[in-house]
Amino acid sequence: MRFASLASGSSGNCLVAEADGTVVLVDCGLSLTETERRLERIGLAPSAIGGILVTHEHGDHADGVFSLAAAHGITVYLTHGTLAAMKADGKVLDGVHLAFVNGRQAFFVDGIQVLPFTVPHDAREPVQYVLSDGAAKLAVVTDVGIPTPHLEKNLSGLDALVLECNYDRDMLWGGAYPRWLKERIAGPFGHLDNADSERLLGALDRSRLKHVIGAHLSQQNNRPALARAALARAMGCAEEWIGLASPDGFDWRSL
Ligand SMILES: [Zn+2]
Ligand SMILES: [Zn+2]
Repeated sequence: MRFASLASGSSGNCLVAEADGTVVLVDCGLSLTETERRLERIGLAPSAIGGILVTHEHGDHADGVFSLAAAHGITVYLTHGTLAAMKADGKVLDGVHLAFVNGRQAFFVDGIQVLPFTVPHDAREPVQYVLSDGAAKLAVVTDVGIPTPHLEKNLSGLDALVLECNYDRDMLWGGAYPRWLKERIAGPFGHLDNADSERLLGALDRSRLKHVIGAHLSQQNNRPALARAALARAMGCAEEWIGLASPDGFDWRSL
């Protein structure tokens, strides 16, 4: 299995995973042209994509999903709640093939096994995904309010983890955001800060981890060096070993 990111953060998220000839995207928060341009950058044709897995309806994850799916005949995998919320926002296009995700049931997209799990976030029915090709397991986890035992259970024993490091607590509370927004971000249905992610990573079985990448960093409320240091402390490794997803994502990594 190998994976790359086309985008990460509040301006758009899109992760690509490939195993045994199957390609899946996790989220697509970029415009159609931008998605196509960035797919070309990593050497993939849109026609290679076997499915788009949607985590939740927020625009930075879902705004590009239906235009990409409609343009290239790709199946969209999502929960009933995510579909309902996207319909209410007028973001669903007719004629796109849908497959429904149950937050407790694993399924296959061709050669990739997908294990969805529910997460606390302020969306209708959010899930995150573990992807497996039978030999290695990868998870991308962003947009989670607080680390939960359920999250720890699902993330233990992974080979690669792309983990949200949304904000630094002092930068958020000392920053310019309005109070309601600070409370939303820091609340139990908001986002993981560097310290949350450090604690979560520290609680996992990390024995197989070959890649740890900080993701969904706030441009206003975080610094890459702070996120990297927090994850390195949890891993007990050199800071350079920790990867970071920029707003432009990151290039292929192999498992
Ligand atoms: Zn997000
Ligand atoms: Zn969100």
